[in-house]
Amino acid sequence: MRMTEQRRVIARVLAESSDHPDVEELYRRCIAVDDKISISTVYRTVKLFEDAGIIERHDFREGRARYEQMPDNHHDHLINLRNGKVIEFTSEEIEKLQAEIARKLGYKLVDHRLELYCVPLDDDKT
Ligand SMILES: [Zn+2]
Repeated sequence: MRMTEQRRVIARVLAESSDHPDVEELYRRCIAVDDKISISTVYRTVKLFEDAGIIERHDFREGRARYEQMPDNHHDHLINLRNGKVIEFTSEEIEKLQAEIARKLGYKLVDHRLELYCVPLDDDKT
């Protein structure tokens, strides 16, 4: 992939974001660095990065895709439904259990996605 200056900016902004931004948020951060970047460039570049396996796309049921740089280490996500905040976590027990379930069904687990949709324990709106 040809790394243009604008693509480089988008890649850097994504690498520095730990909150899984959507394209519009990404765009806001990118124009703070280079105001010549258009939202359509951000859309196209994100798609390109996704196809190249540089970033990961998430659908956290908000009607908009969110992105993060392909993580070095696997993690799962907890989504706070009240504010859209995403918390990363790992659980050795869950990892083992999933592999075990797959094995019992005659399969070798190669990948998985786990998303916990949550409201805070002290939430009074429910
Ligand atoms: Zn993540």
